[in-house]
Amino acid sequence: MRHKAWFNLAKKVIASNRRELEMPYKLTYVVTKECHSRCLHCDIWKTKPQNELTLDELEQLARNSPFLSWVDFTGGEPTDRADFAEIVQTFLRHIPDLLFVHFPTNGINTKRICEAARNIARCRPDKFVVTVSLDGPAAAHDKLRGIPGNFSKAIQTYIGLRRIEGLSVYLGMTLYPENINMVGQTFEEVRRAVPGFRPDELHLNLPNISEHYYENASTPIEVNEEFVRIIENVMKIRGLPLSPFALLERLYQKQVRQYVQTGVCPQDCSALMSSCFLSETGLIYPCSIWDQPVGSIREHGYDLRPIIKGQRAVDLRRELLAKNCPNCWTPCEAYQTIAANLVESIKGKR
Ligand code: SF4
Ligand code: SF4
Repeated sequence: MRHKAWFNLAKKVIASNRRELEMPYKLTYVVTKECHSRCLHCDIWKTKPQNELTLDELEQLARNSPFLSWVDFTGGEPTDRADFAEIVQTFLRHIPDLLFVHFPTNGINTKRICEAARNIARCRPDKFVVTVSLDGPAAAHDKLRGIPGNFSKAIQTYIGLRRIEGLSVYLGMTLYPENINMVGQTFEEVRRAVPGFRPDELHLNLPNISEHYYENASTPIEVNEEFVRIIENVMKIRGLPLSPFALLERLYQKQVRQYVQTGVCPQDCSALMSSCFLSETGLIYPCSIWDQPVGSIREHGYDLRPIIKGQRAVDLRRELLAKNCPNCWTPCEAYQTIAANLVESIKGKR
């Protein structure tokens, strides 16, 4: 447990409630757009990865990023990149305050995914989380993901990951019109394969639309009252949150209704203040949703500082606070927003 790093993170979170932070503490980085899934609602798998940041370039970025406490290594399928574990280890080696490491996985290649996770766990990040995507019971999951047998592979991967010491593993279910009424069935099928599986180990997400990331802007999905009903029902079943992350999740779920009814981010979004998004080719964006490049780390010495402090970022931040962005309420972006609006979130206002 790195007490100084935790203290620094606590200071940043408290400060984010009072003023603009100098630099974000969370980075979401797209390791690769390579992906062997064939998802119906995400077109990342159709893109051909090219010009991705190299390990050397990422090492320079890590050296220049002492302010980061939390990195979400996303994809594509992050483990489809051969040097994935080395990339994460490089960040952990050069960023003394890096506490949280997370990556999502499609669960297809159990051996490779578990090996990458084991290699990362050896570096002992304080909080290491992997989310295995599971979008329904077997038939629905395999159809939504376009890969026959994907459900059983995802379950095998989940079971394998649970055996790794120092790693927390969850299943992540993104709700779509096709699976919206299958949450209970999904839970039961998982519990048959994984005895003792708990409701709080299945995380629900709203679907996201993004041109620059998911590349699915041409097929928007309407999020309606049905999504709210399902998420609120699950919230009741779960009972009281017993950890800081469970509390964040609860505060997130409580505001889904307001988001769905208004279509507006329920709080002052903290993108480009608490967090930012780095594409596989080195472009910084405010978040995974808003298709507004801020600058390239390749043109700024692999340093986020000149980009985040530049006029373009200042202008975009002003725009997003005025709600002149696509407006979303996705956990990847909402958690740090909730952390920056703690009192309002807990009171349930705004
Ligand atoms: S949703 Fe995830 S697993 Fe599916 S194609 Fe997109 S990146 Fe791949
Ligand atoms: S509210 Fe706007 S700026 Fe904030 S994460 Fe969502 S789309 Fe991005």
